[in-house]
Amino acid sequence: MRKKHLDMVDAVHAEFDQMKASLPDELIDGAGLVHPIACGRGCHACCLIEVAVTASEILRIKAFVENLPRNASEKIKTRVRHARRAIGDKTGLDRKTSGVMCPLLADGVCTIYLVRPLTCRAWVSADAERCDHDANEPLAGTKVMYSTTLKGYSEDLFRQIVTSERRENTVGGSYELIRALHIGWQDDQFTVGFYGGKPVLAKARFVPFDWDAN
Ligand code: SF4
Repeated sequence: MRKKHLDMVDAVHAEFDQMKASLPDELIDGAGLVHPIACGRGCHACCLIEVAVTASEILRIKAFVENLPRNASEKIKTRVRHARRAIGDKTGLDRKTSGVMCPLLADGVCTIYLVRPLTCRAWVSADAERCDHDANEPLAGTKVMYSTTLKGYSEDLFRQIVTSERRENTVGGSYELIRALHIGWQDDQFTVGFYGGKPVLAKARFVPFDWDAN
């Protein structure tokens, strides 16, 4: 069951990547102007935003990190602990102004890139300067243009994972990445609880953010 479930997450992520690869590397604004996508390796200003994840994606990330060499996985777990402490109860704009970056980021690179959540896969920008400005001055309200197509597709697939969770009677729903990861590593009974449908992630419940506000 465990492998089957992780395979399902991988298959959904692969489906998303395939769809993304079939699209042109550009965004079209409201005036019909075409903007090339600016995202690239080492670019990580968006890794400041609260990320909505499914419970299954948390399980997938956990399995990935636990398979890394011990030193690397311990570093990630330590960063998650520190980030969890640093965000406290903050959400939304408060969270963004706190400047706490995703603890899965190291030296500007996503350490779990292969298994990153759908939300991260879908977030593309056509203007790296705007992303940086938004990250450095969150109160300025800089709007970053995103892909409505990828957003819609990632939401459909997000729901597909949640439907599969319901069918399997595991934990299901939408959670906030840092809080959920922290629980995933602090609670010895997390995996058993997940498959038993226990509310192990209740304290990490999260309504996906409003993309237009970011
Ligand atoms: S999981 Fe990776 S891509 Fe997503 S916010 Fe964290 S570091 Fe960035």
